[in-house]
Amino acid sequence: MPQLIAAIRTGHDPVGKLPSGAFHRTLETQLNCPKCDATYNLVVDYDASVGRFFEEESRRPIMMLRKAIMLGHGDGHGVAHFETAGVAVTSFLPPKTEEQLAAEAAVEAARHEGPKRVRELRPAMGRPR
Ligand SMILES: [Zn+2]
Repeated sequence: MPQLIAAIRTGHDPVGKLPSGAFHRTLETQLNCPKCDATYNLVVDYDASVGRFFEEESRRPIMMLRKAIMLGHGDGHGVAHFETAGVAVTSFLPPKTEEQLAAEAAVEAARHEGPKRVRELRPAMGRPR
């Protein structure tokens, strides 16, 4: 059975919930971005991690996490928490800060204001309607 493995960026807290199980274990193996110094810790359910076939079962999920981390380099490793059981990789995004929300609202407001401003400015620019 494939194992659910989470990759959590070093220095960050998990964003989503961790793999089920009362105890978790951080594997000694870390995943590194090949292009920068970003590193991710691998977190698994403790019982699963001591299972006999763990190495075999974890190979594919780890491979997929490695790829997700590599692809994350392009966006500055904004995703601090990935999770996969070897089928699809889930990205957990941190909740937005108030600053981010305010910036988004400002952009949205500007978008609504844009055409209106243009209309207001048009006569002043002397353009025919
Ligand atoms: Zn990177």
